[in-house]
Amino acid sequence: MSEKTGERTEREEDSILSAEDRVWLSAIPKVELHIHLEGAIPLDALWECVRKYGGHREVSSIEALEERFQYRDFQHFIETWHWKQGFLREYDDFTLIAEAVARDLSSQRIRYVEAFLSPSDVWRHGLKTQRVIEAVRIGLDQASDIQVRLVPDVVRNYGPKSSLRVLEESAECGEYGVIGVGIGGSEHDYPPEPFTDVFTRARDLGLKTSAHAGEAAGPESVWGAIRALEVDRIGHGTRAIEDQALVDHIVEHAIPIELNPISNLRTGVIGSLSEHPVRTYFDLGIPLSVNTDDPKMFGNSLVEEFASLIVDHGFERSEIRELMRRTVACSWLDDDAKAGLVREVDGDPAWDDA
Ligand SMILES: [Zn+2]
Repeated sequence: MSEKTGERTEREEDSILSAEDRVWLSAIPKVELHIHLEGAIPLDALWECVRKYGGHREVSSIEALEERFQYRDFQHFIETWHWKQGFLREYDDFTLIAEAVARDLSSQRIRYVEAFLSPSDVWRHGLKTQRVIEAVRIGLDQASDIQVRLVPDVVRNYGPKSSLRVLEESAECGEYGVIGVGIGGSEHDYPPEPFTDVFTRARDLGLKTSAHAGEAAGPESVWGAIRALEVDRIGHGTRAIEDQALVDHIVEHAIPIELNPISNLRTGVIGSLSEHPVRTYFDLGIPLSVNTDDPKMFGNSLVEEFASLIVDHGFERSEIRELMRRTVACSWLDDDAKAGLVREVDGDPAWDDA
């Protein structure tokens, strides 16, 4: 566990990305497959919600809000997440934040996103899953030059019964762009096995599946996601590196992993970015994506993630392009839509310097 959790490490501060590389990273078209809508809210939009419900008596400014997003450890991050969810209480709040998120991502040349959202977090405010998702879709559709598909998170902390309800209600929302389900939350307290029926049902409903595994818990959690949940993708997978047999299994079966290096640094899963296994996984040919997870709660962006790949892991521009090809291949779009995304992303002239 890093003593500098939540702060920039010395290694990060020492890192130098050339101005040319930064311009190039900003210009290339990007795709993200592991980002939580409610962790990606631009702070001015979130501040609007905080003020609306009197939160400004607790955090007095946007700067104070930003300072709140520093974490002692993973558990502290989960607690902060739930505190923030308390300021999303009406359907209009979801339209507001979704529009702000989509515009922000679009402005970074992110062309396609599969975004988690956690409707069961706001049932306590009397909100219904389907109407939350509808409200989110209305907001997302206000932004241009970006496609966003939705992946409701069944949230392991609320147990399998609640998860099944999220799943059934979300499955009715295909018209709003729901294409899969995920399971996040406190992985170390809620292992995957009790959720087997939820994931079987998800497959029956034609939804894709992902599980956060190997983030707050070790390799056994990743094994559980693969064997008990039979997931289509693993979220994080960072700690799979601790078990060579597991890494071999992932390589042999080409199981896609959604990596989130800076998130792992901020929550103390790794002590420095150079410790992250992204280079090892990439060189093994694993189907990978590199993602931001909760960018406005971690102070990162896809440009910063890719900058770290270059500076901390020696990625060449051609390898960033290869990573983006693998990311598109890991997306859950149908074959026609995926072929369109390949043309749009890989055919972009901004790659020419790669
Ligand atoms: Zn996540």
